[in-house]
Amino acid sequence: MSELAERFETHAAGEKQVAEKIRCDACPVMCYIADGRSGACDRYGNSGGRIVRLDPLTILEQGGAAVAFDAGRAADGGLVNTGRRFVTAIGAGTTYPDYKPAPFIVSQEVEGVDLVTVVTEGIFSYCGVKVKIDTDRQIGAEAATVRAKGEAIGHVTTGEYGSQMLSLGGVHHLTGGSKSEGRVTCDALLNLCNKKPVELTIDGGASIVVQAGKPPVIDGKLENRMRVGCGSATIGMFAAQWRGLVDEVVVVDDHITGVVSEHQAGKVLGWEDTGIKIVGRRSTPGRYFKVSEPGLGWGGTTISDPRSILGEWNAKKGARPGLSLLMVSTTGEQFAYYELDDELKPVEKPFPERLRKSVDLIEENCEPALCTVLFVGGAGGSLRAGVVENPVRLTRSVQELQTYVTVGGAPVYVWPGGGITLMVDVTRVPDNAFGYVPTPALVAPIEFTLRRDDYVALGGHVDHIRSVEDVLAHGGEYLNPRHEIDASSDNPWPPLAQLHLRDGKA
Ligand code: SF4
Repeated sequence: MSELAERFETHAAGEKQVAEKIRCDACPVMCYIADGRSGACDRYGNSGGRIVRLDPLTILEQGGAAVAFDAGRAADGGLVNTGRRFVTAIGAGTTYPDYKPAPFIVSQEVEGVDLVTVVTEGIFSYCGVKVKIDTDRQIGAEAATVRAKGEAIGHVTTGEYGSQMLSLGGVHHLTGGSKSEGRVTCDALLNLCNKKPVELTIDGGASIVVQAGKPPVIDGKLENRMRVGCGSATIGMFAAQWRGLVDEVVVVDDHITGVVSEHQAGKVLGWEDTGIKIVGRRSTPGRYFKVSEPGLGWGGTTISDPRSILGEWNAKKGARPGLSLLMVSTTGEQFAYYELDDELKPVEKPFPERLRKSVDLIEENCEPALCTVLFVGGAGGSLRAGVVENPVRLTRSVQELQTYVTVGGAPVYVWPGGGITLMVDVTRVPDNAFGYVPTPALVAPIEFTLRRDDYVALGGHVDHIRSVEDVLAHGGEYLNPRHEIDASSDNPWPPLAQLHLRDGKA
């Protein structure tokens, strides 16, 4: 909640004494709000009989330090252009119920081209997050239910390379279950999108604390590194370094365990047979599936003693007393060294210095484990009417790369096919840019930037176009202050990105 919002007390809809109160119509809840108080979402309040937006309108500035609005005025009271500015939709207000033009339709000239940016805070009933958790550890079976505060809010989806994936939210959890399920889902999505930590539990699996841009905490343990690759890839990367230092190497991995003497990489390097046997399903030479059940042990298996995946050693195929064996996990965090005794049993020996460098190299090549949160929302609904008079024209314009879409100034990926289904990495969006309404739905800033002549041709609300300076000086319908923040240097400047949209540089 902003400082401004803290001055207001929360007041939900439905009170009887509506006479002195005024109605907020920025979402279907339609709170009646008394003077000095805020509505159910804490985003709007009643200030002296006017509905005001309680968070400031956020304007990104690039090429200059963040300045307070007044500091941007010259001695004569005129505006000083301290850098390039972009009016985001954060704090802009919404068009709901979509009978009116977007809160701000802003023009500016960039590199000699007249551009228009239409900004609005979209109310997303159709939205969710995809969460990528960099870990090998088994956090739950595919399709297992993910819960927050005991309520089902999503499920485990197909894993990716070195990462486990969750799909959370969506219209069914937001609106199709109990009231509590919808409220808890909305709350978890809001916190995840605003880069706050959320504790999740997975049915039959782990408990995880997820926070965008931070390492996951799995069953109370901070995950440090993601794996260097699968067991087979690890063999491919490091086989040459092990050559001459050890007779056999096994990289233990829940998905593909690698064995250097049998692997294609080992064969090319002239590795000799060792008579090793792996208990697992052989895929191709030196690559084994299902050496164990998935778990929290070595390489995402349940294994704590890696010898449990070894069968009998075969003397006819090269096994001999004294044969040396390195076993290592895909992150290099677990490793052990063995030699075969007279009965061809592997016996653990002190770890030799000559192998330490290669194990350290595996660990060094593992990237830091992080949680990544992508907001996914459908902007193909009624908010389009606030942008243009004929909504489908906006959809076509986005699909035809005529209109560049951003969320709080951050670039989005728009899914091909129908509608405007977009994804954005929440760490690229300014802090606390997301809000909610108790319907329940998430509120996300969204900006559409396009050439002015295209906007006119699309049937845009041209009578409502204003300059950036005018927006800075006078604000908008909801009377909130404007504040400027530094644009992230990681994000392309939206107006320039629009100019490069068609040539694929955006
Ligand atoms: S929940 Fe918020 S946006 Fe909706 S009517 Fe109430 S104050 Fe307005």
